[in-house]
Amino acid sequence: MRVLISGAAGFLGSHLTDLLLSQGHEVVGVDNFITGKPDNIKHLEGNKAYAFIKHDVIVPLDVDGPVDRVYHMASPASPIGYVKHQVATVKVNSQGTWNLLDLTLAKNGRFLMASTSECYGDPQVNPQPESYWGNVNPIGLRSMYDEPKRFSEACTMAYHRELGADTRIIRIFNTYGPRMDPHDGRVVISFIRQALNDEPLTVFGDGKQTRSLCYVSDLVRGINGVMESDFHEPINLGNPEELTILDIAKEVLALVPGSKSTITHLPMPPDDPKVRKPDITRAKQILGWQPVVSRREGLAKMIEFYRGALKQ
Ligand code: NAD
Ligand code: UDP
Repeated sequence: MRVLISGAAGFLGSHLTDLLLSQGHEVVGVDNFITGKPDNIKHLEGNKAYAFIKHDVIVPLDVDGPVDRVYHMASPASPIGYVKHQVATVKVNSQGTWNLLDLTLAKNGRFLMASTSECYGDPQVNPQPESYWGNVNPIGLRSMYDEPKRFSEACTMAYHRELGADTRIIRIFNTYGPRMDPHDGRVVISFIRQALNDEPLTVFGDGKQTRSLCYVSDLVRGINGVMESDFHEPINLGNPEELTILDIAKEVLALVPGSKSTITHLPMPPDDPKVRKPDITRAKQILGWQPVVSRREGLAKMIEFYRGALKQ
């Protein structure tokens, strides 16, 4: 198949590219580098099955030849990133979404929307099943991300219902691994960078808020599984093992022996969800998918990657 990935130079887009190339598909990567990096796709230079288009998907995109699959992964994804690029985040998850839906229809292909656990906002139900409608502040400091992602889901379902577009929706929960931007402020990469540099690990608030961390290889396998399934409504993808942020800090420190880092507490940012844990019953039933990489193994791999990468 010929597959188009928006956000292909980002963390998840680049790993998804590697998976699809390993399956023998051709990949067309599209990115404008607003938060992604050329380094993430450098290893693909000279690969005949890979083409890259530098393009902002807010602008309609012309692609020659067939496009069988469109993975819409483009969007700033860290709380720091989407506050820094508020308007771009709103646009890539609205105009960007329907531009790629139009391209999918024109090419008679299949579309997958990378939505997010942020659709559940600060959830009042834990764990979160797909049937939960969420608790989102429509004007808060996460709204430029949460609300357009919710809109993207609505847009995707409208194209599916009225225009017959062949669509899939995933809600991704916190994922970690190599190629995350060391300075995008997300918790795992921040703690690893701080631990490797002997800086204090910055826990926001008392650190009792929870998250559930999925390793990137598990996640991209799930994304691909959803694309090749027959299911049109949202599917949660994430690792259901929930822990506190303070425990994440302690685990990272334990995996970097010799680090001189301590733990420091900084003020809690506004609208920070107090709990987050995916209910993955649907993914298990429909795809037979569940994460297999333990946190210990995933964190160790990521730490090894950044031991080298941070020195450069
Ligand atoms: P990332 O920032 O590493 O990658 C996003 C990529 O999209 C970047 O390369 C960026 O340059 C590109 N991009 C952004 N706007 C663009 C535009 N208008 N045109 C072209 N390219 C554009 O982030 P990520 O973690 O890889 O996230 C990928 C997707 O997954 C995002 O849609 C994000 O919302 C979603 N997601 C990720 C997580 C996670 O834990 N990583 C969780 C929930 C949802
Ligand atoms: N967090 C933290 N210190 C950091 C970065 C994040 O304590 O340096 C906390 C943050 O307050 C949140 C959780 O870790 O409760 C996850 O933050 P992240 O930015 O990774 O993503 P989120 O799940 O909030 O979108």
